[in-house]
Amino acid sequence: MEAGDFKDFAKAMTDYIAEYLENIRDRPVVPSVKPGYLRPLVPEQAPEKAEPWTAVMADIERVVMSGVTHWHSPRFHAYFPTANSYPAIVADMLSGAIACIGFTWIASPACTELEVVMLDWLGQMLGLPECFLARSGGEAGGVIQGTASEATLVALLGAKSRTMQRVKEQHPEWTDTEILSKLVGYCNKQAHSSVERAGLLGGVKMRSLKPDNKHRLRGDILQEAIDEDIKKGLIPFYVVATLGTTSSCTFDALDEIGDVCAARDVWLHVDAAYAGSAFICPEYRYLMKGVEKADSFNSNPHKWMLVNFDCSAMWLKQPRWIVDAFNVDPLYLKHDQQGSAPDYRHWQIPLGRRFRALKLWFVLRLYGVENLQKHIRKHIALAHLFEKLCTCDERFEIVEEVTMGLVCFRLKGSNDINEELLRRINGRGKIHLVPSKIDDVYFLRLAICSRFSEESDIHISWEEIKNSADEVLAQK
Ligand code: PLP
Repeated sequence: MEAGDFKDFAKAMTDYIAEYLENIRDRPVVPSVKPGYLRPLVPEQAPEKAEPWTAVMADIERVVMSGVTHWHSPRFHAYFPTANSYPAIVADMLSGAIACIGFTWIASPACTELEVVMLDWLGQMLGLPECFLARSGGEAGGVIQGTASEATLVALLGAKSRTMQRVKEQHPEWTDTEILSKLVGYCNKQAHSSVERAGLLGGVKMRSLKPDNKHRLRGDILQEAIDEDIKKGLIPFYVVATLGTTSSCTFDALDEIGDVCAARDVWLHVDAAYAGSAFICPEYRYLMKGVEKADSFNSNPHKWMLVNFDCSAMWLKQPRWIVDAFNVDPLYLKHDQQGSAPDYRHWQIPLGRRFRALKLWFVLRLYGVENLQKHIRKHIALAHLFEKLCTCDERFEIVEEVTMGLVCFRLKGSNDINEELLRRINGRGKIHLVPSKIDDVYFLRLAICSRFSEESDIHISWEEIKNSADEVLAQK
């Protein structure tokens, strides 16, 4: 493809994208296709001869859109939001054009340096203490990981190397294998599945602890588990505190947990994948009280801060536990400026990395902090509107306090009836929700996901739920 065609193609695609997003609420939120729908729609083999771009364009609705779940529709209330904005889409175009692989500073200095500064900007916006920021002048700083799951694993590996070194100093006679078999980490039973997975990948035990009656991991619960394990000869080394659990968006008692970790030299990682973005609004920072006691902190701008996937921001107070511990230095990756700026290849699992700081830069500049705060506050207000509609109907109950953009609700009565309710709602095809279950109580989750959501959309979603409930209860 030559530049002329590229310009025409990109212009046509830009028009298409704007039309798609601005009118997204008119499309069925979940497609009605069956598995295997796509193969008959495309040829068996790649074309021998080049096709015109217009042919590709002509196939987008037929082949792709017919099988897309529209995550940015105001009718989409499943999981948590994933971000989408025009500035981030344009930044991804530029990133695609530069197409560098910024694993070291010299591999593309702008790629590394913009990331360092953007993570400082974002850290300040969130109200993170200076001890997490590169501008503090020490070794601390932020990095963009692909996902929160990677951040949890990277932090676990850092915790492992820090504890291994300490224990080896205390017990030079113990082998690595002996020490490893004693390491134990902790999280709330409600923590994301990626925490358990990090334990499996890292080859260490992770214990899921039963939270209090508000589903929060508390300091005393953690303390008891740690004491019990120390008595058994185990070595507590890592704790993940979740701020905004996936099932019901509850917040672990970070301040209490921080004290327990500090007393035992246990690495504390904060997983604020979804809810962390809300800390750009000062009124929600009470939920991260004690954050200065953490060793690492993670939040996904790609969830709730209008930066398209993938952009998972992670800060480390002492990156040396990852940078030094897993340092392999082949000659072809060495450069003369080593040590004067981060070589981000040491801060992550893969070697390759895209120029993701661009989309953070574009979004922060083109929205400004003020409009990003408005976005968060609007989603939370819409969640409260839905909560109010729900509480005004005596057939329903709210099962968790609403603090962010998620409402957990159910019909009063059995799990069966709620399972039937969800089947009806999703079966009617107008809106899309997923369920969850805590302590054997099945409930529905309504997440405010789209940046296009307005009050009128919430009323439409509520009507759908109410009508579905009418049908379910009439059948009883
Ligand atoms: N942690 C929490 C609290 C989450 O809610 C999620 C996903 O929703 C994750 C981790 C995993 O996020 P990612 O897909 O970025 O790995």
